[in-house]
Amino acid sequence: MVLTTLRCAKALQLTLAVIKPDAVAHPLILEALHQKILKNKFIIVRSKDLIWRRQDSERFYAEHKGRFFYQRLVEFMSSGPMRAYILARENAISQWRELMGPTKVFRARYIAPGTIRALYGLTDTRNTTHGSDSVESAQREIAFFFPEFSVEEWMEQTEPSFRKGH
Ligand code: GDP
Ligand code: MG
Repeated sequence: MVLTTLRCAKALQLTLAVIKPDAVAHPLILEALHQKILKNKFIIVRSKDLIWRRQDSERFYAEHKGRFFYQRLVEFMSSGPMRAYILARENAISQWRELMGPTKVFRARYIAPGTIRALYGLTDTRNTTHGSDSVESAQREIAFFFPEFSVEEWMEQTEPSFRKGH
């Protein structure tokens, strides 16, 4: 039901975006990223600053367990404050991923020079931002970061006013 809501919302789609600890540690980069979100016409539905325990990090990145970068990823993501956003706009998932650029910072600099990771990424691990990569992962990740948030309720309450152009 929630999945259907995410897919069928005529104009709006939700995604989870995270500013990772490397960027939150630099107030000017954090501010630049916040402005980029607004400039690119995302609606900030929710945001929160948080710090993960190691086990949160392990749980969130369980799909990467066993990969060579897993331990350093888990350590990095629980090393300091992050900022998480639920963002809404048309094609929010692909639009945010396009703004972020490729996962690997040096590849991003080579093939997508203006993107967030190309501009601000430090290493392949410390690559500035996270973004959901599918409707299914957006649903799972929004629930992980914002367990109190109901996509269905939000769509019901908010979507009609967007359709009317209010
Ligand atoms: P994303 O969806 O673009 O963030 O990429 P993935 O889901 O594949 O990987 C999750 C995170 O693991 C990335 O954002 C990086 O922080 C880290 N990561 C992925 N691939 C590599 C890699 O090849 N080397 C290193 N050091 N970190 C990686
Ligand atoms: Mg991913």
